[in-house]
Amino acid sequence: MVELWKTDAPRQAEFFLAHPTQIRKQARLVWHQAITKGDGKAWLYFIFGICQWFPTQHRLNKRSNCDNVEARMCLLCQAGDIEDMNHLWVCPAMAKAQLALQREIDLILRQRFPFGRYSLESRQSRTRRECLKNAKSSLQNAISESTIVRLTRDFWKANKHKACIPRRSFSLALSKLRSYPTVPEHLCSDFLSIIIEEFTLQVEGCTDVLRHSNAFEWWCSGNPNDSVFGSLGSFFVVT
Ligand SMILES: [Zn+2]
Repeated sequence: MVELWKTDAPRQAEFFLAHPTQIRKQARLVWHQAITKGDGKAWLYFIFGICQWFPTQHRLNKRSNCDNVEARMCLLCQAGDIEDMNHLWVCPAMAKAQLALQREIDLILRQRFPFGRYSLESRQSRTRRECLKNAKSSLQNAISESTIVRLTRDFWKANKHKACIPRRSFSLALSKLRSYPTVPEHLCSDFLSIIIEEFTLQVEGCTDVLRHSNAFEWWCSGNPNDSVFGSLGSFFVVT
């Protein structure tokens, strides 16, 4: 068994090879407890633990409940996704832990690697900074800076998949915004988030680049100029 571990699954054998006596003792203890209390899951957790396997719902239930997909779904976020190792990295319920891990890794990389302290500007930051600079010089305060910053985010979201982002189209589209009607008051954001959740809304119809809410994943505008900023097009054509 140990030889098999070493050859077929060296990673899963690491703990046992480092602490063979302790793990044998603990195995007897857990087995005894699992039998006495009739709790088979305790034994499963122990096996997964010493093999460095995280006891995800997928791992725990893929054999015993292979027909029942629901048994393998994530219990933390309730998003309906299968809880496997890939899901743990993107599970919304684990966001805090994911950020903490990212911070720790960033710190190690910065402290221990040569030139690690030199931070390179991200593509998003560079593109948005250049767009903002160009817009400020060409528009001369015709549009407020906070609005331009918001628009650079929309522009980036709509164009980030392109190998070469056409920055001129941002300035061009921006110069046309002056002809837009005055922006009315937004709906209360709390109210909006409640109806979005209750009715599972994803698309905001009949809006434009200056009025659309960030709470929606997608938005529609009848103005062709807005497609540069991520509009899906006219609501009546899209539907
Ligand atoms: Zn989840």
